[in-house]
Amino acid sequence: MAFSQPKIEYKTNAQILKMREAGLVLAEALDEAVAAAQIGVTTAHVDSVFASVLERHNAKSNFKGYHGFPATICASVNEEVVHGFPSDYVLKDGDVLKIDGGAIIDGWHADSARTVIMGTADPEDQRLSDITQEAMWRGIAALAEARFVGQIGDAIDDFVSSVPGAPLGILEDYVGHGIGSEMHQAPDVLNYRTGHRGARVKPGMCLAIEPMLVRGDLETKVLEDDWTVVTVDGARASQWEHSVAVHLGGIWVLTAHDGGVEGLAPFGVTPSPIQA
Ligand code: MG
Ligand code: MG
Repeated sequence: MAFSQPKIEYKTNAQILKMREAGLVLAEALDEAVAAAQIGVTTAHVDSVFASVLERHNAKSNFKGYHGFPATICASVNEEVVHGFPSDYVLKDGDVLKIDGGAIIDGWHADSARTVIMGTADPEDQRLSDITQEAMWRGIAALAEARFVGQIGDAIDDFVSSVPGAPLGILEDYVGHGIGSEMHQAPDVLNYRTGHRGARVKPGMCLAIEPMLVRGDLETKVLEDDWTVVTVDGARASQWEHSVAVHLGGIWVLTAHDGGVEGLAPFGVTPSPIQA
């Protein structure tokens, strides 16, 4: 049986520079959202802080209105993995909050997520977030050398399964994606080893790399709001995400202020900005 593959959108340098503009606005919005996320504050307030940064820069939200999504960020707490609604939920000491947001400038998208722990972190939650973040950077570092998109998931999987201590699970139901003139494009970017090499990596390819790890089983379900994804066993989850461009000069992390210099340094990868 033959399957038609969805087409990959390869971006010009000028288009990648637009995505970088969106990425920098997004990085600033996430900085302010993370700073606003404090014990005693609602997740709706964190959303309003994020939204105000987009407004300040005349950027649009790619989340608000996406299949009816009501807010500019996903705010997912503890066992909520992704797609949580900002609400009147008041953040508590030890909560593991995932803030996933996006921005559009002149039709070009950026998508990025961070995990932040309120007050005193359970050491196992801190470890979960640290390893998820490192898994993201290792996936991005793998892209710098990769011939095929599947090598990103291989690198993430090899790292997570080699970490000593209590094993962490890599969610398989939710994956990274191409990004550009839409938030979600081909190809899928799996966070685990599949034995399939996936699409060939070429200049102009832009990918959102977003491992989601859990402290328990991989099984998830969607709550009655039709959006919020939770782990069935109630185990806590972490998500980290950056949007990354591949171009003739190398890779560039569009949603990191420094383009990925610091995050990639431990892996011997130096990102290359595109000059305007
Ligand atoms: Mg995202
Ligand atoms: Mg994404």
